[in-house]
Amino acid sequence: MEVVDPASGVVVGEVSAFSLVEVDEAVARAGAAFESWRKVGPGERARVLRRFAGLVDAHLEELASLEVRNSGHTIGNARWEAGNVRDVLDYYAGAPERLTGRQIPVPGGLDVTFHEPLGVVGVIVPWNFPMPIAAWGFAPALAAGNTVLLKPAELTPLTALRLAELGREAGLPEDVFTVLPGEGSVVGERFVTHPAVRKVCFTGSTEVGTRIMAGCAEQVKRVTLELGGKSANLVFADADLERAAATAPYAVFDNAGQDCCARSRILVQRTVYDRFLELLEPAVRGFRVEDPALETAEMGPLISAGQRDRVAGYVDGATVAFTGSCPEGPGFWYAPTVLLADSPADRHWREEVFGPVVSVLPFDDEADAVRLANDTEYGLSGSVWTRDVGRAIRVARAVEAGNLSVNSHSSVRYWTPFGGMKRSGFGRELGPDALHAFTDVKNVFIATEE
Ligand code: NAP
Ligand code: MG
Repeated sequence: MEVVDPASGVVVGEVSAFSLVEVDEAVARAGAAFESWRKVGPGERARVLRRFAGLVDAHLEELASLEVRNSGHTIGNARWEAGNVRDVLDYYAGAPERLTGRQIPVPGGLDVTFHEPLGVVGVIVPWNFPMPIAAWGFAPALAAGNTVLLKPAELTPLTALRLAELGREAGLPEDVFTVLPGEGSVVGERFVTHPAVRKVCFTGSTEVGTRIMAGCAEQVKRVTLELGGKSANLVFADADLERAAATAPYAVFDNAGQDCCARSRILVQRTVYDRFLELLEPAVRGFRVEDPALETAEMGPLISAGQRDRVAGYVDGATVAFTGSCPEGPGFWYAPTVLLADSPADRHWREEVFGPVVSVLPFDDEADAVRLANDTEYGLSGSVWTRDVGRAIRVARAVEAGNLSVNSHSSVRYWTPFGGMKRSGFGRELGPDALHAFTDVKNVFIATEE
């Protein structure tokens, strides 16, 4: 598989893809490694993960530049992403020593529960955030005592391969964490069909995720799905309009809009609609789209020519309010674009574009805002801008999405649970609960009667 730099279109490396036979061999080795990894004492497992975090920190700049080259992420974003891997490893390094069960009062004996690891876990990662999404799977899975097989996206395998090397250097035993580059229909699908893979942790499109869930059902295999989104940014008339408008571009154009949490629908109360667009225009025109390796870059290219064509297809024939700018020449560039929705039936209002395109629509009152925000099959994230505390809480509770932020656009914080409602997914990553997605509760009763 050729690896391409999206900023130039130039091939920067080659990686060999795993065949079906090689995947089966890797599953067998990971299965054997599980028997010993699960028995490693909690303190030692914690130390290995902490060393892993330390090595990621020591190689932060190297990992970040690799991601700039492979994914076209801005250097600022790529540093944050590598730092997130370090933080997630550090956070879950605290877990092996704290994965406590319960002692439950029962008659006739002693009853205790254990959080047992599942075995071999398959993690399938998309191309939009290769490092963080990998770590959200492998860090808690390893902490809980599982062994991990990770399939990076075909387009972006480089940082995952480097992370696996750092894991080995940190002291993870052989076959405990293995990266298997290859095709989704070969490597990814084998995670679903191989009976020795006990859980699939998938992030990607709703289309593929739906098929994975159906495949896992055949073996009652555990599955976590983080899928698409069409998140709403709700701006009420009583909000700090200047801040809401200045931050809205970052909430959707970050990572060139290739973000499942992108606030790609802006809903603005009708009385301030014109004023909001007036404030939004200079913020969009000033958005710095340039060589992602530059310290000043706020947005780089899209991941591929195919993705650029897909994005352009949504803008064709739509009402463009204004656009920003982007470099010309080689590379998969697309300028930030603001569309006015004529109605909530517009294709660009309903479907996930996964590019630097945002749609704007006015609303009348709170009930109207909530109704429009929820008129989607997705439910991943969203933002509410208002100075009225009661309204902020009412609306945050009423919007059907897993991650809401008030007067901010934050979705991902490694201390807190992350995941979707409706067709955005199933299960939660990060935070204290993620461990339970990589364990089964076992109940043991010990009779004390003579
Ligand atoms: P995708 O086509 O669903 O691919 C995701 C991963 O699944 C890739 O590694 C892909 O491999 C693999 N795959 C493809 N077909 C498969 C199959 N039949 N069985 C098993 N694995 C298979 O999605 P994408 O194009 O990479 O990413 C964009 C989408 O992901 C967007 O819709 C976005 O919203 C969603 N996403 C969601 C989140 C979230 O947290 N909710 C995060 C990131 C992205 P290949 O590389 O070989 O195609
Ligand atoms: Mg795909």
